[in-house]
Amino acid sequence: MDFDASRQFALALDAEDPLRGFRDEFNFPEPRNGNSCIYLCGNSLGLQPRQAVQLVDEELEDWGKLGVLGHLQARRPWLPYHRQATKGIAELTGAGPHEVVSMNTLTVNLHLMMTSFYRPTRERRKILIESTAFPSDRFAVMSQLQLHGGDPGTDLIEWSPRKGEAELRASDLAKILADHGHSIALMLLPGVQYYSGQVLDMPELCRLARDTGCHIGLDLAHAIGNVPLELHDWAPDFAVWCSYKYLNAGPGAIGGVFVHERHLRETSAPRLLGWWGHEEKSRFEMAATFTPARGVEQWQLSNPPILSFAPLLASLQIFHRAGMHRLRRKSADLTAYLAELLQHRYPRRVVSITPENARGCQLSLQVVDASCDARRVFDSLELQNVIADWREPDVIRVAPVPLYNRFEDVHDFVERLGIALDA
Ligand SMILES: *Cc1c(COP(=O)(O)O)cnc(C)c1O
Repeated sequence: MDFDASRQFALALDAEDPLRGFRDEFNFPEPRNGNSCIYLCGNSLGLQPRQAVQLVDEELEDWGKLGVLGHLQARRPWLPYHRQATKGIAELTGAGPHEVVSMNTLTVNLHLMMTSFYRPTRERRKILIESTAFPSDRFAVMSQLQLHGGDPGTDLIEWSPRKGEAELRASDLAKILADHGHSIALMLLPGVQYYSGQVLDMPELCRLARDTGCHIGLDLAHAIGNVPLELHDWAPDFAVWCSYKYLNAGPGAIGGVFVHERHLRETSAPRLLGWWGHEEKSRFEMAATFTPARGVEQWQLSNPPILSFAPLLASLQIFHRAGMHRLRRKSADLTAYLAELLQHRYPRRVVSITPENARGCQLSLQVVDASCDARRVFDSLELQNVIADWREPDVIRVAPVPLYNRFEDVHDFVERLGIALDA
């Protein structure tokens, strides 16, 4: 990209953007204090697809008109509702349709998957996570260790960035595995690290797990809808995600899981059971014996929450039309443009801790100008109607999202950041 810092340049990039029309399919927060909203928080809660409103309305209408008959007679029958999402999720994750299902929420799914894939033995009972893991993941792992009589003080192994760095280096992980691999039962690692925005080398992590002889689960909360995924080929044992971040399915929306094909036949793998994991055709015979559904659907517990599911269908239709590879290309351009503009405008005042060669939509910024209070800078951005987020102790996360953010947004964000720095 022949870079130029003018607003004109940003407008020209937008004019050439083949995906620019998708922005009109989303609802944006309102102007405040005379400023239009610059929304850079799709990594935390994606914006509302306009069509989501219609789909939720239709479910409410069908419920009103049909009552219980909606299970079979709604325009999208509720009984097999989860299958409406399967194709779209399989596309985004690079999985077979029998390997993915939308259900529950992320942390619940993490527990369900660990129930099946954390199988400690006397020799192998440790779990490896990264030291900056999202607290919910850490708590889930700690409690799983305790459930099995382990001690998080000794059974939790952490892969840390080097001192003074934010980046997780796979070569450091390989060293830990060379020393401790024989005692590790499970690695739980992110696809994209939520704090630094680093995209981890997922195929390499899966390869290391295979060589170590342990299970691996990927937390894709910040990866799904952000970067292309090839789960079937990378072959982790399982993966989990939420769909309210880059997938725009709304607050508390339905999450999902992937279980690799190789585990779908061994019915001996332990799991927690519920009636929605029972094969569909005989489910309502209400028999006392459990006949598993085919594929990953056998991990389902309950009938799905239709109202928190409908917005996901709207969003998946948009992703299908836009195409993940086209989105990724635009995202790389948006992020590169943001990085370059920051470097050009505030070279010694703001830095990104996100590794340049391993980033998705998000840049994690630190204000390094000693004359500025970083938290005040963030507050000033908020007053100017820039929606980004603050992560303790000192990071401002900004995520231009290719479905609805423009180069113009990035340009104007950098302008408003200048006002905040000088405030
Ligand atoms: C967003 C996020 C969560 C949130 O978990 P919920 O169960 O959906 O509340 C958990 N882990 C990671 C890594 C996340 O980024």
